[in-house]
Amino acid sequence: MFIVKGAAADGHAIDRHAGLSYFTGMAKLPIVTVPDPVLRKISAPVERIDGELRQLMDDMLETMYAAPGVGLAAVQVGVPRRLLVLDVAEEGEEPRPLCLVNPEIVTLGPEMRLHEEGCLSIPDVHVEIERPSTVTVRYVDREGAAQELAAEGLLATVLQHEINHLDGKLIIDFLSSLKRDIVVRKLKKQARATEAL
Ligand SMILES: [Zn+2]
Repeated sequence: MFIVKGAAADGHAIDRHAGLSYFTGMAKLPIVTVPDPVLRKISAPVERIDGELRQLMDDMLETMYAAPGVGLAAVQVGVPRRLLVLDVAEEGEEPRPLCLVNPEIVTLGPEMRLHEEGCLSIPDVHVEIERPSTVTVRYVDREGAAQELAAEGLLATVLQHEINHLDGKLIIDFLSSLKRDIVVRKLKKQARATEAL
């Protein structure tokens, strides 16, 4: 997910974290976009946190910061495993990267929060979505320790958006079927045009 800039949403996200040069040994991965069928897969649980998985976490963080985005699920780089990375630190703040393995929503609060969401896998599409404004998530961290995180505001929204990805659910699924068809047709046309280049 990325942050839509201001009212005149032009598809570009706030360009922060652009100078994170102290991350080394990381590689930017290609982001999979709609209508790639992998985005509809139910991601499988991660069974082991090893060097290979940590490398994937690092590469996903680099990919997310470069996009730039505030959250990225492994399936968005073509790996349908229950893993996501996020960072909702604001411009000028220290980065606060989080890696969540096998995240699960434990509780959702009663209050709702409306947010215009963008998705790195659905270029140029923004959808206003109302989701619970607080959420508690259980997950396993980078070191393999069980964690529980109580989140509110933007972090709660991003967590729900990214966990949706692990179940093959996308922001366009919150649209009416008519609007969704229009968006998917447009994205297919764009994909064909790109292939033809
Ligand atoms: Zn997304």
